[in-house]
Amino acid sequence: MTKQRELILSILKQSDRHLTADEIFFLAKLKMPSIAMATIYNNLNALDEAGVIHRLHIDGVADCFDKLTEPHDHLLCTHCGRIRDVRLPSVRPAIEGDIGTPFSEYELVVHYTCPECARK
Ligand SMILES: [Zn+2]
Ligand SMILES: [Zn+2]
Repeated sequence: MTKQRELILSILKQSDRHLTADEIFFLAKLKMPSIAMATIYNNLNALDEAGVIHRLHIDGVADCFDKLTEPHDHLLCTHCGRIRDVRLPSVRPAIEGDIGTPFSEYELVVHYTCPECARK
């Protein structure tokens, strides 16, 4: 693994958030000022394809990257945009029962107001 790839992976592993490529670029530059945005993209794509990280796409939100690759769902705060993990029982059996056929994957995003925003 290259130094750049190690750095990008460690940034994701150390964060408790789902980071966008821009955020990873900003954090990587602090440690490796010479790193280029293209390097960030290339490494994120390679890590995603290798299944080491997971690219999360939510409509209307910048793609972000998830260190958690096991199946889980997401909560999106519609006020601050923060994305959190949530583990729900799989709805796969219910969907398959309804459509009558197996399917490859689903992505469940719950839109809500996070506790911090609700307090304001
Ligand atoms: Zn919020
Ligand atoms: Zn996640």
